[in-house]
Amino acid sequence: MPIQPKENKKRCSGCKKLYPTTLDYFCQRASTKDGLNYYCKKCAYEFTKDYKERNREKTEKYQKEYNKKYYQQNRKKLLESAKKNYRENREKILKQQKKYRQRKNNYYQKRKAYFREYYQKNKERIAKYIKGNTEKKAEYDKEYRDKNREKILTYQKEYYQKNKEKKKQYQKEYRKRKKMENS
Ligand SMILES: [Zn+2]
Repeated sequence: MPIQPKENKKRCSGCKKLYPTTLDYFCQRASTKDGLNYYCKKCAYEFTKDYKERNREKTEKYQKEYNKKYYQQNRKKLLESAKKNYRENREKILKQQKKYRQRKNNYYQKRKAYFREYYQKNKERIAKYIKGNTEKKAEYDKEYRDKNREKILTYQKEYYQKNKEKKKQYQKEYRKRKKMENS
């Protein structure tokens, strides 16, 4: 026999756990007898998340297919209208394109100038930084080699053993090929 009266606890239809029938554990739902959802809050949240995720995929797929179909069905019309639009607004479109190109160019010029200036101003600092980094890396590599000398040696030995046969075979074939080429 449960110690608690039945009404004070409710089993979640999702995770099958018993929870107190309070709004801390269940969401409100007008259509149920006790006015609480069948699922605990955690399960309800998971379900909504899953549902949203699934729905998003479905909607995206549908939209993509619809666009493709629409384009196929109206290809001629769309091309016509694009052409017409170009004919009628040729001047405007060309002007816009020119403006756009100029803006892009300006942007790149400015950026280039900025980097050049930055480099000029910080030349020494940059050189020092690169040098420092190279030295640091060399130091790190050396430390790594020292620390892992045994491991590296074992690995090299293993690698050598593993590839000995292969290498022999390859050399044999190479010599054969050379011989054939020379004869
Ligand atoms: Zn649950």
